[in-house]
Amino acid sequence: MSTLPNSLKKISLFLERLPGIGEKTANRLAFYFLRLPDADLKDFSDNIRDLKVKTKLCNKCYNLTESDLCPICEDNKRDESKVTVVETVLDLLSFETGNIYDGVYHVLHGKIDPLNHVGPDEIKIRELLLRIKNPKSKIEEVILATNPDMEGEATAMYIKEKLKSQNPNIKITRLAYGMPIGGNLEYADYMTLKKAIDGRNNF
Ligand SMILES: [Zn+2]
Repeated sequence: MSTLPNSLKKISLFLERLPGIGEKTANRLAFYFLRLPDADLKDFSDNIRDLKVKTKLCNKCYNLTESDLCPICEDNKRDESKVTVVETVLDLLSFETGNIYDGVYHVLHGKIDPLNHVGPDEIKIRELLLRIKNPKSKIEEVILATNPDMEGEATAMYIKEKLKSQNPNIKITRLAYGMPIGGNLEYADYMTLKKAIDGRNNF
């Protein structure tokens, strides 16, 4: 590492900070950049420079966007009566990749996590409540799609309680959790099995 020229070393050290990248991969990627045609490298560095300048949060759902509203909120074919509440933009993307959902979203940008000093005010819960409270809101169902871990469950419970006192008639649902497709009961953990049996459906 110490034998690398300084400019290359700086790139490599930065890449090493990225998730899932170790020192060897970082070096390999840094060399790859060095071999790229000048135009490609310039394009890439321009995009990096613009990333934080151009990217902002959608005024309505807090998805990432370059305009005031994200493409989902701007799409009038979307069913605005149901809103799925997710922790992150990556969670939203998971739903979108499968084309399995035609409603709209609300991105919390985190979950309530007292151990890491994240309270309800640090994530977009207040914004969700205001969005639903707005007389122009068409939302009839709130689908709580926070993760099924301790903090995700606590966040869902918190939002449910707040919503029930604000909009007593709104429909609140939670994603069903259970056995993965192709899964094997023998290897399922206790919590997965409990969720699967609690959320069982008519057959
Ligand atoms: Zn949006």
